[in-house]
Amino acid sequence: MSESKISPPASASGPSGWNLEHSYARLPAMLHEHLDPTPVREPRMVVFNHALAESLGLNSAALAERPALFAGNELPEGAEPLAQAYAGHQYGNFTGLGDGRAILLGEQVTPKGERYDVQLKGSGPTPFSRRGDGRAALGPMLREHIISEAMHALGIPTTRSLAVVTTGEKVFRQEVQPGAVLTRIAASHIRVGTFEWAAAHGDRDALRALTDHTLRRHYPDRATAEVPGLALLEGVMERQTALIAQWQCVGFIHGVMNTDNMALSGETIDYGPCAFMDAFDPATVFSSIDRHGRYAYGNQPEIAQWNLARLAEALLPLLHGDEKQAVELANAAIKGFKTVFERQWLAGMRAKLGLFTEEAADRALIESLLVWMRGQKADFTNTFRQLHPAETAPQADPAFGAWHGRWQSRLMLQPQSADEVLQRMRAHNPAVIPRNHKVEEALAAAVEHGDLGVMQRLLEVLARPYDHAVDRPEYSTPSGLGPGAYQTFCGT
Ligand code: AMP
Ligand code: MG
Repeated sequence: MSESKISPPASASGPSGWNLEHSYARLPAMLHEHLDPTPVREPRMVVFNHALAESLGLNSAALAERPALFAGNELPEGAEPLAQAYAGHQYGNFTGLGDGRAILLGEQVTPKGERYDVQLKGSGPTPFSRRGDGRAALGPMLREHIISEAMHALGIPTTRSLAVVTTGEKVFRQEVQPGAVLTRIAASHIRVGTFEWAAAHGDRDALRALTDHTLRRHYPDRATAEVPGLALLEGVMERQTALIAQWQCVGFIHGVMNTDNMALSGETIDYGPCAFMDAFDPATVFSSIDRHGRYAYGNQPEIAQWNLARLAEALLPLLHGDEKQAVELANAAIKGFKTVFERQWLAGMRAKLGLFTEEAADRALIESLLVWMRGQKADFTNTFRQLHPAETAPQADPAFGAWHGRWQSRLMLQPQSADEVLQRMRAHNPAVIPRNHKVEEALAAAVEHGDLGVMQRLLEVLARPYDHAVDRPEYSTPSGLGPGAYQTFCGT
């Protein structure tokens, strides 16, 4: 029997497919503020993610025609809008934050039973706006759309973008920009900072409820653990090490790894001044405000560990009745970070080099390639992409030739054929990443000229990053502009 014509099972959802639930809204009141988005003048759809809409069980054709829903001018059936409360360590300093320009509409439960937050970003002021206008600009929202979709296609856990609409209003940043609202889809928006908020208020009940909620939602296997706080910490550490290892393996630099930008689900969240590295250098920073390079490429693992230590601190009251013993449990867990991360990173780098087996010297082999790349300012993505197990190294560079010989000898130690090696490498080394100048070009065309074609073509290429069959030099050649030259649209 053909399966393709079977109509989807009837569900409680309406014709648009909304099936919103509100488990977060049922958590203690100190974790949220209920309010509606602020309507905008003239909502216009700029991008609508049909594939994502379908996977959420939404009627994509119908919703693509309803920009008002994605601007906050109208609400989907069953929405219970709220702003989430959270705190955060920003560049190392603790502050109370909260959704200053975002509104959670609810949790869409998909036909498969998965639960995703639907959040409007740029939807107007909230009690947490401080001195901000509650709004977002078109350039940065399209940037989030492009990079998050690229990350998804690369197979890296990430929030996604369902729609970007313009508001018909202006926002004032360094310059005047068209206003926009992005609809963000996330496994949840629970952050390290959400736990810091509950802990800073000394609200043990809220902390416990939040812990149980997060375990049920993201770590159901751990939900019945004897010490839920510890089970959560270990679960988050496992996912975050895996995530950061994936970032390192594609040269992704998040840019603002504040604790409010680290999700308990293990997804990449909050695309601000992020970018992919071209020339390999661990000191690479793209954010113009990150003067000391706190969030440089090479620091990302250590910062993740630092952030997890803040999570552990917040969870202390749940770890043990005796504070000293609680601290010991937390320290023991956090100390494990480096080992777990190393394992994840090595696995990722072995795959990039086509290694199936494990040898003690693998780490040194990988390190010496990275040292060579750094010395040569070699392009991170293209160096891996151009490695070929069955070809000899170019004669021109004896240092690289020597490394290549070591690599080929290493390949001989495993039973797999050159073809199998090549397949593995192609599955782990992207042919294309969102090159900074291509992203800028797409944003300039969209924002300055209302031309979305450049971005659409870029999105199509980025949707198949492991497609090595066609060479697309236009998309795979680095611009030659260093990070210093690439800071436009990094604002929000
Ligand atoms: P971010 O740098 O995007 O992670 O944001 C840090 C904090 O600032 C969060 O609490 C945001 O909600 C808030 N925020 C950022 N931009 C604005 C804005 N334009 N208006 C109000 N709050 C904002
Ligand atoms: Mg943030």
